[in-house]
Parts: sequence; structure tokens; C-alpha cells
Amino acid sequence: MRKRKKPTEDRGLLKLIPLGGLNEVGKNITALEYQNDIMLIDCGMSFPGDEMYGIDIVLPDFSYLVKNRDKLKGMILTHGHEDHIGGIPYLLKEIDLPVYGTRLTLGLVENKLKEHNIKGRLKTISAGDEVRIGCFRIETIRTTHSIADSVCLAVETPVGTIFHTGDFKIDYTPVDGEPINFQRLAEIGRKGVLLMLADSTNAERQGYTASEKKVGTVLENIFRDSNDRILIATFSSNVHRVQRIIDTAVMFGRKVAVSGRSMLNVLSLAVELGYTKIPAGTLVDVNRIKNIPGRELVIITTGSQGEPMSALARMASNEHRTVQIRSGDKVILSSSPVPGNEKTVSNIVNKLFEKGADVIYSDIADIHVSGHASVEELKLMHSLIKPKYFMPVHGEYRHLHQSAVIAEEMGMPKANIFILKNGQVLNLDKNEISISKTEVPAGPVLVDGLGVGDVGNIVLRDRKLLSESGLIIVVAAIEKSSGEIISGPDIISRGFVYVRENEDLIESTRMTVEKRLEKCRENGVRDWGALKNAVRDELREFIYAKTRREPVILPIFIEV
Ligand SMILES: [Zn+2]
Ligand SMILES: [Zn+2]
Repeated sequence: MRKRKKPTEDRGLLKLIPLGGLNEVGKNITALEYQNDIMLIDCGMSFPGDEMYGIDIVLPDFSYLVKNRDKLKGMILTHGHEDHIGGIPYLLKEIDLPVYGTRLTLGLVENKLKEHNIKGRLKTISAGDEVRIGCFRIETIRTTHSIADSVCLAVETPVGTIFHTGDFKIDYTPVDGEPINFQRLAEIGRKGVLLMLADSTNAERQGYTASEKKVGTVLENIFRDSNDRILIATFSSNVHRVQRIIDTAVMFGRKVAVSGRSMLNVLSLAVELGYTKIPAGTLVDVNRIKNIPGRELVIITTGSQGEPMSALARMASNEHRTVQIRSGDKVILSSSPVPGNEKTVSNIVNKLFEKGADVIYSDIADIHVSGHASVEELKLMHSLIKPKYFMPVHGEYRHLHQSAVIAEEMGMPKANIFILKNGQVLNLDKNEISISKTEVPAGPVLVDGLGVGDVGNIVLRDRKLLSESGLIIVVAAIEKSSGEIISGPDIISRGFVYVRENEDLIESTRMTVEKRLEKCRENGVRDWGALKNAVRDELREFIYAKTRREPVILPIFIEV
């Protein structure tokens, strides 16, 4: 047994702290800490779950970083998806630190910062560049994913190299012709990698993830068979896919109109940075499409996930200003539903069919390919990088588990594989690796409107109760000394029953309260809290007996 050195225990140890991205697909952020230096890899956000009533977005907990702000030397980004950059404005509001990323990634970050009125110290790098953040030396290596300009990271630390795949798949025929840099990956592997963190999103999928090129072929076939309007919904950040749609449109002599705020934003950024090329005369204003024959037009839109406020959703429910779905339209949903979105997507598909459109979605044609590595690609990554230790990241627990199984199949001892939870700390030195007994705060921080983190479990529980059973408010004015009711009690309800059709119930509720207050007066109960509890208990039983419902009951007594 080694002797534990107390105060200097941390000396020479590298701490790897995932603050988000484990047991979830979203809010990816990982901290690396060595002595007086901390660097961050990505800083994402996630979307609220069904139980998070009224929440707009979910952020990682930054409190550990704020506490150690003096150590924080910088952040490097793997790519520009929301689950990797969405939290940046919120972190920069707390801590000013340099942010390194490739051109498209930082372009997307800059758009975000502008919305929040933040400047930010953004440092543009290219794949292949090296960056120093504190004592860390980071090499970026080009990779392929569903957004251009993605990189993997090889972080040289004082205890060894940590390799982070970022989000990746292995696309031999990427749309921009810039494949993953295998040679460099193999060299890094040969030099020796202590620990690899790998994108495990598709670790359950056998074989290889198809190339983005495949979507192009399917698109061409659809265009060839269509002689009316084509509408295509896809992720705005997938600039390769959008480019492919534009190319196909040009090939078939169609003009392109664009609808949806994020689609317009990302497209103009991608054009400005040179990632997307649109031949002159191709683009038309979506407000001026009236006179263009259907067979000469493609409309690219947001809303492939069924988002209720998106352009496609508005078209499907006749609320779009300029585009109405009509019989003959071909609508392509070029994405597959993110887990949890199946129902909203299905709603849109139903509405579109009802309007007479011909809808093509992932269940009936290959109009989408994933951006994440399947089993065989993960194996290839393992055999190139040959890490000593492995930590699956970017996935729900089942994905992390399957990713660990793959590592084992590749010959890695089980003891060398670490499945962590957000907030756990992995301690590494040259010879040893272990999960620390102490954890750092890493729960979800909820954003509602302008409030960051002010909605917690108690507020959410109330929202859940209110949404399930509604609210009854009891109002009465009572003379404190005698306990006499001066006015009321009045019953106000929201979301409980429709009052006009339930006047009897409301009246008997009122009488129950009145009786109870009388009884309290007779028994000399004058304490406000006791009075409220008595009324609440009585009413809860009464309402439950009558309706089998349990609304939130809120007594308000006014002292006169
Ligand atoms: Zn991604
Ligand atoms: Zn991601």
C-alpha cells in the first residue's frame, strides 16, 4: 500500500473532471486540471426534459470553475454544435477566458455572443494547429462529423497524452473532400496515449455509419422524380447537407429559398466564411417565391425535429407568412428524430400529409445519415490510438456501457476502463489512475427566461403539481382577535375544473372552508399557520373524496 501524502496529495496529479455530457446527450464540458492550470474542452447546453416545466435550456454547473477561476487558462472547442458551444455565453458572463476553435465553430460562437452582448476573446485555429493553454499543449486533428471544421484533440499533459475524439464518424468521402487525418492519428497512437475519451453516441449501432455522400444520391433521385415544389427541413448547422441540397437544386434547374431564422443565420455565416458556395442567381427571397413555378423551386427550412416554433411547423399549421403547404408539395425531413422528439416529428408528418403533401422522412428513405461513429469506426479509433486507459463519453449510460464493451473486445483490460458520472474526478499520474472520492457539483442548471439557476427542484415540483391537477385559492378576511370571518371565503381555481359547469362543487367547497373556519373560531385557534393548515387538510380530503383529484391548495387570509 502506498502512503497517502496529505496536503501535497494533489502534487503531480492530473484531474479530469467531466462537468457534463455523461449519462446524457447534451451539455458536453470537460475540465483538465494540473496544479495551477485548468483548461476546458467544449462548453455545451442541453434541451429540457419533459419533466422540466417551462425551462428553456439546461446548462452545466459552473460553480467549480467559478471557485477556481484563477486557475482557468482557456477553453478549446471540438466543433460548433449546441451541445458543445451553447453554454459559452453563460460561462463567459462569469469568467473571462480565451476560447480556441476552428473558423466555423468560432463563427457560430460569435453569433451567440452577439445575442448576449458579450465580446469574448476568440482565437481562431485550423485543424493541425497546436495551442498552449497553461501547462497543456493541445494538437488539433481534422475529423469528420455532421458539421464542417470538426477536430479531435491530443492534449499533452505533464502525466501523459489525453486523446479526445470529439464528436466523430469516419467518412471516407466527406462532402468537403477533407477526410479525417488517419496518418496523424496513427502517429499520435504510436507515441503513446495515456487515456482516450471517445464519442459513444452510436456505440449500439453495428457496422459503419454511412457517408454523407449517400444522402446526396438519395436526394438526386427524389429531385429527378419531382415536378412540383420541394421543401427540405434539416439541421441548419449541417452546412455540408445544405450545400448538397443547393448543388442538387442547381443541377435540376431549381431556385433556392430559405426560411427559418437559424437557417438564415448559419447559411450567411457559412457563405461568408467560404464553407458554402451558392452560384449567383440561385438564391431567391422566400417572400418573392409567388411567381416561381413549383418545379423550379426548393425551399430549405428549419424544423426537422418538429420544433413547434420552427418554419416547417408554422407552414404545416398555416401560420407561415409566405409559404403554405399545398397538394403536390414534396416535403423532405432530412434528419432523424433526436431521442425524445419522435412524437413532435410525427405530429408534423401527420399534418403535412393532411395538407396533401408527399412527405419523405427517415423511416421511408435514407435522407439522413448520423454524424456519430458506429461500432466498427470506434474499433478503428481504438486500434489507431491504442490508449492505455479508456473513458467513454457523449452518451446515455447504455451508450457508455456499450462503448466500454467495445474497448474490452479490443483487448483492453476491464480495470482500465472508466465509466464516470458528471462531477466525478478521475485522478491520473504516470503510473496510476483512480476515481477520486470527492466530487464536484455537476447537476443541471436550469435557465428560464432571464433566470439562470433560480428554478430548482422545489419550483419544478410545484410546476409539476400545478400542471397535473391545477390550483385552488381560498381567500378570506378574518378579524384576528375574534377569529370572525369578515368577508369570504371565496374560492378561485385555475386548471382544476371549469367553474361555470361546476358551480355546485365550488359552492360546497366554499361551505366546507366556512364550516372549518367557524370550528377553528369556536376552538380558539387564532394562529395563522394553524388556520391555513386546518383549511388545507380539510379541503384536500373533501376534494379528493368528491373528485379523486389533488389540486394545489393555497389559503390566503387577510387580517382585518
Ligand atoms: Zn456534434
Ligand atoms: Zn455532440
